[in-house]
Amino acid sequence: MSETDAVKSSERGTFAKASVRDADVAGKRVLARVDFNVPLTGSVPDRRVGDDTRIRAALPTIELLRERGAAIVLVSHLGRPDDHDPELSMAPVAVRLGELVESPVALAPAVVGEEVETLSRRLGAGEILVLENSRYEPGETKNDPGLAAALAKLGDVYVDDAFGAAHRAHATTEGVAHHLPAYAGLLLEREVRALTAVRDHPERPLAVLLGGAKVSDKLGVIERFLETADRILIGGAMCFSFFRAQGIGTGDSLVHEDDIELAGRILERVKGSSCEFWLPHDLVLGDRFAADAERRELDNTAVPDGWMGLDIGPKTAAEYAGAVEEAATVFWNGPMGAFELEPFAAGTRAVAEAVAASPGFTVVGGGDSAAAVNEFGLAAEVDWLSTGGGASLELMEGKDLPGVEALIDA
Ligand code: ADP
Ligand code: MG
Repeated sequence: MSETDAVKSSERGTFAKASVRDADVAGKRVLARVDFNVPLTGSVPDRRVGDDTRIRAALPTIELLRERGAAIVLVSHLGRPDDHDPELSMAPVAVRLGELVESPVALAPAVVGEEVETLSRRLGAGEILVLENSRYEPGETKNDPGLAAALAKLGDVYVDDAFGAAHRAHATTEGVAHHLPAYAGLLLEREVRALTAVRDHPERPLAVLLGGAKVSDKLGVIERFLETADRILIGGAMCFSFFRAQGIGTGDSLVHEDDIELAGRILERVKGSSCEFWLPHDLVLGDRFAADAERRELDNTAVPDGWMGLDIGPKTAAEYAGAVEEAATVFWNGPMGAFELEPFAAGTRAVAEAVAASPGFTVVGGGDSAAAVNEFGLAAEVDWLSTGGGASLELMEGKDLPGVEALIDA
C-alpha cells in the first residue's frame, strides 16, 4: 500500500473554509442547507422517498449538531415545483429523516414567515425542523435579498452541507450565508477535499474517463484536464460528436449538432497537448434506444444508417479498464453507454469494475455515473462517490462555487 492509499479521501485536498466542527452551536438554532433533492415515488398522500442516499449523506452533520446540543432547522429544494405543487412537498422527506435519526422530525408549513420562526424558537436541543421546499419561494432561485433575510431569522448559525447545490447562487445556498456566521458541513468539506485532490495535486498517472450525453456539459472539464491529466478516455454518446468532427458517419447515434464544433475545437487542442486523448474504436449498436432493440457489435466506429451507437465495444472497454488499472488517480464522470438498457450496459459495467478494483485514488462524479456504480453494487469500492453532478463538474473546471465562497474563511 502506498503512503497515499492510507490517507482517507476526507483528509486529502484543500479546504479553506471554516468547518461546522469548529462552530459554537450548543444551545443555538442552526439553519442547515442540505441537499434533500431526492427521487420520490407514489402520489400524495402515499408519496415516499425512492432513494434516500442524499438524506443519508447529510446524517454525519445532523448527528454532529445533535450531539452538540443545537436546535436544527433543515432547508432544501426538491425538484422544480410550479408554485406550491403538493407533489413536491418535503413531507415524505421529513418522514424518512425521522426514521433514519430514530426521533421525531417536524415539518414546517412554509419556508419562511412568522409561524415558521416561532416553530424554530420552540425547538429544544437536538430537535429537528424541516422547512418546506425552498423552491416554493420564487425568491429562492433569484437569490432574493428579502428571502435571504427572512431565512436568517430561522437560525443563529448557518451551515451549508448541500454540495449538490453549491454551484447555484440561491437564497438558501448563498444569500442567507451573508447574514449569519456561515460554516461548511462535513459532507460539503469532504466533497471539496476529494475533488480538489484530483484537480490540483493528483498522483500520476491521472486518467480521466468522460462519457454521458453531451460534450457541452463537459467541455470545461475536458479543457482543464487536457492541461493536467495524462490520459482522457471518451465514451458515451459524447464520442459521436468527436467522430462527426473527424468526418466519420455516426448513423442514427445521438449527436447534438452544436457539440460537433466544440468537439472539433477540442481535437485541435489535443494536438498541442501532452495528454493522450482516447476515443473508442469499436462499438455496440442498437437499431433503436430500447432494451429490446436489435443489437450488434461493430469492429470499427463508422456507424451505418439505421443503427445507433449505444455502448463502447468490448475491445475499447478492455483498453479503458487497462488504462484505469495503470492509473494512480482516476476521475470518472458520465456513463460509457446507455447503461439503463441492459444489452448496452457492459461498457459502463467494465469501467465501473475497473474503477472499483483500482488500487489508485478513485473519484466518481455525476448523477448517472453514480447511479451506475450504485446499481452495480460497487459504491463501497470507490474512494469518493460525489453527490454533486453539476457542482462536481464546475469545481473540476476550476470555477468557484458560490455556496462555498460565501462561507467564512478558516
Ligand atoms: P452524468 O449524470 O453521470 O453526468 P450524463 O447525464 O452526462 O451523465 O449522461 C447520462 C446519460 O447519457 C444516460 O441517460 C445515458 O443513457 C446516456 N448515454 C450514454 N451513452 C449513450 C449513447 N451512446 N447513446 C445515447 N445515450 C447515451
Ligand atoms: Mg445526468
